Amino acid sequence: MRFSGFRVIKEALTGYKGWGPLWRNPEPQPSYDYVIVGGGGHGLATAYHLAKVFKGKRIAVLEKGWLGSGNIGRNTTIIRSNYLLPGNEPFYEFSMKLWENMEQEFNFNAMVSQRGILNLIHTDGQRDAYRRRGNAMLLAGADAELLDREQVRAMYPWLNFDNARFPIKGGLLQRRAGTARHDGVAWGYARGADLLGVDLIQNCEVTGFRIENNRVLGVETSRGHIGAGKVGVAVAGSSGRVMAMAGMRLPIESHVLQAFVSEGLKPVVDGVITFGAGHFYVSQSDKGGLVFGGDIDGYNSYAQRGNLPVIEDVAEGGMALMPAIGRARLLRAWGGIMDMSMDGSPIIDRTPIDGLYLNAGWCYGGFKATPASGYAFAHLLATDRPHETATAYRLDRFNRGHVIDEKGMGAQPNLH
Ligand SMILES: Cc1cc2nc3c(=O)[nH]c(=O)nc-3n(C[C@H](O)[C@H](O)[C@H](O)COP(=O)(O)OP(=O)(O)OC[C@H]3O[C@@H](n4cnc5c(N)ncnc54)[C@H](O)[C@@H]3O)c2cc1C
Repeated sequence: MRFSGFRVIKEALTGYKGWGPLWRNPEPQPSYDYVIVGGGGHGLATAYHLAKVFKGKRIAVLEKGWLGSGNIGRNTTIIRSNYLLPGNEPFYEFSMKLWENMEQEFNFNAMVSQRGILNLIHTDGQRDAYRRRGNAMLLAGADAELLDREQVRAMYPWLNFDNARFPIKGGLLQRRAGTARHDGVAWGYARGADLLGVDLIQNCEVTGFRIENNRVLGVETSRGHIGAGKVGVAVAGSSGRVMAMAGMRLPIESHVLQAFVSEGLKPVVDGVITFGAGHFYVSQSDKGGLVFGGDIDGYNSYAQRGNLPVIEDVAEGGMALMPAIGRARLLRAWGGIMDMSMDGSPIIDRTPIDGLYLNAGWCYGGFKATPASGYAFAHLLATDRPHETATAYRLDRFNRGHVIDEKGMGAQPNLH
């Protein structure tokens, strides 16, 4: 079944009888060539690219809950490639390019909207830092513009420009950045993978690994043993717990990150704005709700809900930036489990166990990475070599001291 405008009109005229489920609900087979653990964005994108680009066969995704029940359906939907360091920027720009073509490629409306992201500048030192970051982005083929105060005012006149503590002095704008409907991304990759023959198995929790002579032979699950040639783990906030079952201790801590949505309002924020003097960012959904968030909760947790101090902190950031937000009512808040790596950058690598591969450490930036992460992990699983944009994401970099310490990526080990 292909989606098209013609199809939508036809279904509307014939009582919507032609729409079917987006994917099958298969029983697990005794074994597969590739088993991907975790049916979030990264696991689904990996299976899709493995089947489509690398022509992998006999692939299964095992998800303990339902597809999209994790962070992929809980994030604040921001996509961007405004990174500084050479280990990161080419990878995130590769991801941005995949976003731009994604909906046509998997024939599904993921509501990718390149509405731009503006990082606000509040000090002269910050302007220098953002100029440097913008130049690094341009060198990697991304787009970046440094705006002065009046250019920012022309875009968002209602921001608090004259706040005595945090005056707005300009901004770094990436016009190609924006938002995408997060669960639409999961559904699009799931449907695309299913059409290519991937078995998507829900309600199937991996409870252990079968490892002999340092080689993984399969996984134990709540639905029995499943044999595997190669196993790729992409379980985000559960990475520490799952890899512990293979005897590994990761340089990762799990924390809650909360998101907030206001009541529906008329259009006011037509892009994404980040506050440069605290941790607050905001966009507006197509339904009208202001979607915003801030810092992680400061303690380790595997709970998918947060606590009040962070809500207060985020609300203070919002009030400092756009005082009018104080008149909007908060409608919903929720939390997801973040896999915070110790340098804020991800891991896409083999493990010391033959046939076992790891995709983790996304902190609070993994949604924008979904397409490139899936592509690079599929590349690694299929060829045993890292994709050219993901060569820095080695697991042993924490031993070697070769960390990719990018500010603004998420982790600040001194804070958690
Ligand atoms: C509130 C919030 C806001 C965010 N905002 C942004 C943003 O604006 N931009 C951005 O780039 N990133 C953002 N992120 C981060 C981003 O959502 C994550 O980094 C990314 O989604 C993680 O990858 P994933 O989609 O594969 O994770 P998940 O969707 O969490 O997938 C992991 C899956 O593994 C499954 N699993 C776990 N254990 C097992 C097991 N034993 N067996 C089988 N399955 C298992 C889980 O059920 C889950 O479905 C945000 C996250 C949160 C929580």
